[in-house]
Amino acid sequence: MKTKAFRILCVGSAVCSLLLLSSCDVHVGNQHADVPWYVIAIPTVIFLAIVFTITGYCLKKHTYKCPECSEEFHPKLFSSAILYSNGQEALLKCPKCKKRSYCRKTD
Ligand SMILES: [Zn+2]
Repeated sequence: MKTKAFRILCVGSAVCSLLLLSSCDVHVGNQHADVPWYVIAIPTVIFLAIVFTITGYCLKKHTYKCPECSEEFHPKLFSSAILYSNGQEALLKCPKCKKRSYCRKTD
């Protein structure tokens, strides 16, 4: 439940930031332009969505083992996209015992 509140807080902060951003000053050499917020925000959101989707698909195919119940599982796409990992272990929620712990990658 704590992580759901954290996600809501993160998404709400991002949406508020985008809504509060009215325009941006862009300086290229001696040129100065006032660029609308969506010219910067929309490509940034699209770029981040592509990066997170590719990351999710790449990490989703790995198998992780829960240290609590020894269940081996593949994380979901969203979990894979945002997981905290050091390369061999990742902080994931086990689909069997529902506990969040550092699961070791088995492949
Ligand atoms: Zn488990």
